[in-house]
Amino acid sequence: MNDINRRISETMNVSPASVNIVTKAENALGDVFAYIESVEQICTARVLRAFTDEGVALRHFTPTTGYGYDDTGRDTLDRVFAHALQSEDAIVRPQLTSGTHAIYVALAGLTEPGDSILSASGKPYDTLENVLGISGDCPNSLKRNGVSFSYASLDGNGKIDVEAVIQKALQIKPKLLYIQRSRGYAWRDSLLPARDMKPIFTRIRRELPSTLIVVDNCYGEFTGIDEPTVFGADVIIGSLIKNPGGGLAPTGGYMAGKHQAIEQISQRLTVPGMGREVGSYAGSYRPFYQGLFTAPHITAQALKSAALFARVFEELGYETMPAADAIRSDIVQAIRFHSADELISFCKSIQAASPVDSQASPEPWDMPGYTSQVIMAAGAFVQGASIELSADAPIREPYTVYVQGALSYFHGKLAAIKVIDALKRD
Ligand SMILES: *Cc1c(COP(=O)(O)O)cnc(C)c1O
Repeated sequence: MNDINRRISETMNVSPASVNIVTKAENALGDVFAYIESVEQICTARVLRAFTDEGVALRHFTPTTGYGYDDTGRDTLDRVFAHALQSEDAIVRPQLTSGTHAIYVALAGLTEPGDSILSASGKPYDTLENVLGISGDCPNSLKRNGVSFSYASLDGNGKIDVEAVIQKALQIKPKLLYIQRSRGYAWRDSLLPARDMKPIFTRIRRELPSTLIVVDNCYGEFTGIDEPTVFGADVIIGSLIKNPGGGLAPTGGYMAGKHQAIEQISQRLTVPGMGREVGSYAGSYRPFYQGLFTAPHITAQALKSAALFARVFEELGYETMPAADAIRSDIVQAIRFHSADELISFCKSIQAASPVDSQASPEPWDMPGYTSQVIMAAGAFVQGASIELSADAPIREPYTVYVQGALSYFHGKLAAIKVIDALKRD
């Protein structure tokens, strides 16, 4: 046992064998980490270029009040984000409370009564069911406002079934084609913009030129070299307490894409006729800028951590999605355990290895809207931030945990060591 491992084992109060298991997995990931870092470099270059081209200066961090007319910090942040996300335009706002809120505002802003939305990636993320009106009957759901929703399931390999989507699209002529990039909390792969999205984008453009392409980009930003906008997405949407906030943005969401579509969404964001001209922020914009600047690096830390979790559990004989050496399009790692006890032990160890609320012990609970109990580990500086190390799992077969985030790779590694140590002890 080398000196580093001995010191880690002593400091963390874990067995040397646990450290060795994780270190051995880490040693097998040289090529995987090199690829992740190459993406990080390219994205960092693009983000830096966005800052210098837009002339970001200290005055852009200044808080504003009231209506927020001529808020140069807000307007410049929009342009920097647009550039960083390879888009003509963007809206970035602390007032967007979550990714779900940003998606709702975008979908509502782009549709009118009588329009329809077709998802090419199956059922959308859980929190969108009420938004779309698939479940529940909330006032102002898209369904109640006259916008219908349907979906084409992913094929047997978890990829977009291009022919099925096109067939459906030609029938219903949707106003929006919707794609979810991340696996979310489903046992499927994330969709790569160049490989998995471009073919359907190209077909839709040819067959239905007026259909707008909208991508739920949550968890996907900066995981690859190019964002979906490069391949024809009209609008991409995400949360600032995930990848593009770099762990520093305290809240918020964004929409980025074609200028005309973003302008239209801005009329739903605030008030028709005022759009993006209003909206002040009495806190500093600095964490949003700084967070975007560090986002490619933080995303790379999360990706390395995810690959390490995959490799550790693959070596122990567990099923993982994706595999440790997969090219990833999101930061989520799914692992299948043999029992509820293992799943619970995993989440408790993640919590115990968190910088905040390490004393808390997560327990399975009946979360509203879920059919089985759910356990969550989240010891984050920003409440619910899943770019920070976190794990979620419904307590039901096949006992799958979804783990994501890590502000530093070594935090992810130390947490993996703690997880292994506890699993071996139980
Ligand atoms: C996180 C996420 C959302 C939005 O969730 P919020 O918790 O509202 O930010 C939507 N889709 C996917 C795939 C996500 O990962």
